[in-house]
Amino acid sequence: MNSTGSVRVRFAPSPTGFLHVGGARTAIFNWLLARHTGGVFVLRIEDTDAERSTDEMIREILDGLEWLGIDWDEGPHFQSRNVDRHREAAERLREAGRAYPCFCTVEELAAEREAAIARKESYVYGGRCRAISREEADRRRAAGEPHTIRFAVPAGETAWEDVVHGRTAFENRTIGDFIVLRSDGAPVYNLAVTVDDLDMGITHVVRGDDHISNTPKQILIYRALGADPPVFAHVPLILGPDKSKLSKRHGAIAVTAYRDQGYLADAFVNFLALLGWSPGDDREVMTRQELVDAFTLERITGKSAVFDVEKLEWLNGQHLSRLSGREVAAIAAPWFERAGIGRLTEPQGDGDWFANLMALVKTRSRTLHDLVEQARPFFPGPVEYQPDAVEKFWQDPSAALAALAVAVDYVESEDRWGDLEAMEGRLRSLAEERGVAAGKVMQSMRVALTGQRVSPGIFETLTAMGAALARERLAAAREWLSRRVAGD
Ligand code: GLU
Repeated sequence: MNSTGSVRVRFAPSPTGFLHVGGARTAIFNWLLARHTGGVFVLRIEDTDAERSTDEMIREILDGLEWLGIDWDEGPHFQSRNVDRHREAAERLREAGRAYPCFCTVEELAAEREAAIARKESYVYGGRCRAISREEADRRRAAGEPHTIRFAVPAGETAWEDVVHGRTAFENRTIGDFIVLRSDGAPVYNLAVTVDDLDMGITHVVRGDDHISNTPKQILIYRALGADPPVFAHVPLILGPDKSKLSKRHGAIAVTAYRDQGYLADAFVNFLALLGWSPGDDREVMTRQELVDAFTLERITGKSAVFDVEKLEWLNGQHLSRLSGREVAAIAAPWFERAGIGRLTEPQGDGDWFANLMALVKTRSRTLHDLVEQARPFFPGPVEYQPDAVEKFWQDPSAALAALAVAVDYVESEDRWGDLEAMEGRLRSLAEERGVAAGKVMQSMRVALTGQRVSPGIFETLTAMGAALARERLAAAREWLSRRVAGD
């Protein structure tokens, strides 16, 4: 906590790539902590690597966060604008005797590294330039001799109480005197992050396990600058189904790819929040507010979590089916426009029709993509008869034609559209009159109307479709079947 006692967290992506699912989960955990505690969520773009950072990736990251509904209270700050602060801090460390200029050349360092490898030791800088007197170092610096600035790591160990992993300690001799400023004056990640986190009053650093080895260096810098380190929580990595680190090999890892595949932002946030965290009870389908209410860092598990697309699909279906038809309509409308399917207000001419249709198809859909496919037959235009539907219900074209003849008369004579029970009663009695099994009529009609083997209830389908379109579809199906009977 800072002096005002409030939590301040940050998400600090490097714009060298897309917002991937691991980064998004880090953002979500930070955001949930901020929202749960009434704290502040800061967005900081770590663009100090000018060569690899691009404006396009910055836009992609902001787009991804926006889609997820992860809003920030401060920022985006751009790390590259704070370089003077980073250099100042390096100078302060130098003044305090906690950092020193290193004049070793690239060749000297390479030779040191090779010698360590030959001894089968892991390499850390040997500290040769630490011994150079301040006067000599100043003289050489003033003469323009190229140098980096290294942190003088003290003896001992550096430890912290990680919220996720408990006490975590590194022997300082395994860290070695690390560079904080490069010879061109560019700050190194560990310095830049620490100075920015301090300047921004960050109280909790929640990030991936891949940063654990950076943390002792950052803690050493905090202390050398006379500051208390924040609370650290390192979140286990996300794995693919084969238990290796999630990567492109496992499928899409860019967050926006999931948007484009038709997942709901709320479902995706729910899914990512459950990768390595749980509410402590058996809840899985959770709204954003429920996640905010339940979230604590202490419930992050220390074990890696597997990215399971089937679970994501299931969760998405659950979220879809819990929305009202009207809510689904609002989210899905652009999908229908993109798919070029009819006008949304047909055939009844009001928005209710579309909302009702969404209410009808949402329970059978796992993604927005599914939803469009389920809803497609309700819009004008021909339907495609799915081979499995034909195989199952139209195997005998003559029998199907006989069933559809009943269906046509039924549609012509029905005048209680929307009263599902009355509709069914009427169809059953007509079928009985004609000596055709009612089930056959309904099944054949389903294929004719939707092209599919499964659909919402046939009377709901008819009602949503309207008599005119139903008539058209039945006529087209009869033609198709007649051609079959004729052996075309
Ligand atoms: N910019 C770093 C990254 O994208 C994150 C730094 C941090 O969270 O401390 O990996």
